[in-house]
Amino acid sequence: MPVEQITEFAELRREARRWLAETEIPTVPLELEERFNVLRRWQRTLFDAGWMGLGWSREAGGRGLTARHQQVFSEELARAHAPAPIGLIGLDVVGPSIHRYGSPEQRTRLLPPLLAGEDIWCQGFSEPSAGSDLASLRTRALRDGDKYVVNGQKVWTSWGNQASWCALLCRTDPDAEPKHAGISYLIADMSSPGITVRPLVQMTGDAEFCEVFFDNVEVPVGNLVGKENDGWRIALDTLSQERGNYAMRRQVEIGWGVEKTIDGLRGTSPESATNSRISTAIGESHVALRVLDAQIRRTVQRLIDEEGPHPLDSIDKLVLNDAEQVVGRALADLLGPFRLDAESQPLGLNAAQLIHDHYFSRAASIYGGTSQIQRNIVAERLLGLPRS
Ligand SMILES: Cc1cc2nc3c(=O)[nH]c(=O)nc-3n(C[C@H](O)[C@H](O)[C@H](O)COP(=O)(O)OP(=O)(O)OC[C@H]3O[C@@H](n4cnc5c(N)ncnc54)[C@H](O)[C@@H]3O)c2cc1C
Repeated sequence: MPVEQITEFAELRREARRWLAETEIPTVPLELEERFNVLRRWQRTLFDAGWMGLGWSREAGGRGLTARHQQVFSEELARAHAPAPIGLIGLDVVGPSIHRYGSPEQRTRLLPPLLAGEDIWCQGFSEPSAGSDLASLRTRALRDGDKYVVNGQKVWTSWGNQASWCALLCRTDPDAEPKHAGISYLIADMSSPGITVRPLVQMTGDAEFCEVFFDNVEVPVGNLVGKENDGWRIALDTLSQERGNYAMRRQVEIGWGVEKTIDGLRGTSPESATNSRISTAIGESHVALRVLDAQIRRTVQRLIDEEGPHPLDSIDKLVLNDAEQVVGRALADLLGPFRLDAESQPLGLNAAQLIHDHYFSRAASIYGGTSQIQRNIVAERLLGLPRS
């Protein structure tokens, strides 16, 4: 049966397995630019074969199925040791909010190229003095006829240097009280005159997140998502995606990293089975991944039920954070003293990759809202504890 017509889970799984077995799975280089290009091509291959946007509507370029169908395919990607596509901010964080709150015109114009990997998206929320306290953001958008004129600065904008579009939170009513009542959700074309992007180098050595400056940047009114001054509701939806939906995707990627490492050990290290450092690392990684898996199964059901933002998203984020950091450290520990030498290959392991992934895992307790903030949300909204 053509993949476009499959709706039943077991059939979808079988077809995914068959397709992945026949398809050349790309090797992912460590170097950022090469990695980006390889994964972007991979996204295009997945899109052309009908595997992208399984849970999105057909007008958005998707298949009109559910989040569970998408998860089934993601599980098969991990099983085949195949990487996730590149456009994760678009696919899992911003795109679902445009899908839910955008106009029909915005959905048909913006979402198909997002799924195909033709357009990369970034998320312009954080500012130098507005991270955890996002509602205090200062970037201004002033209405002038059929456009907004934007001035201000965003920071930590992942993939800002590669993005064609930015989901941009701006203040459109400076006098509104409370502060979040004066915020709008715009979509800015990153090639607009007046936008300057400066990549920032992280401890991983990558520079995929950026400072973005807006100097009298014009954004057509047609690129307002939802209503003016009603952007906070949509921003909360995007943050909820970043905590729930994104956790689903990262589960696959982390699992993929663990399996790849185990494969490498199998191939080159006969003493693996008896080495306690190795069994500890693999054991800890598997436990963390199983906990994440159990949590994600609940998340998928919430996504299918389209419940929208929920404090449980914060639990997803905390569990994801633990999995990222436990696995990142456990695999880096495999290197023993070689952890100080990124050029080394002890036990046939790729030290550069493991060190890189370990460093990146440290960011998990910051991006998408810090762990302290998630715990505050759990304490106040789930446990009913008083605000401190
Ligand atoms: C890898 C990475 C990628 C990112 N990508 C993006 C992106 O694409 N787009 C984007 O908009 N942002 C992005 N961010 C930014 C991220 O969302 C912010 O870093 C985060 O929200 C924290 O904000 P802040 O850095 O301003 O820290 P602050 O808000 O200044 O917090 C500093 C410290 O104080 C603690 N703290 C603050 N308030 C409280 C409180 N009320 N109770 C207890 N503790 C508190 C925090 O937990 C933290 O430890 C990214 C960050 C990282 C690390």
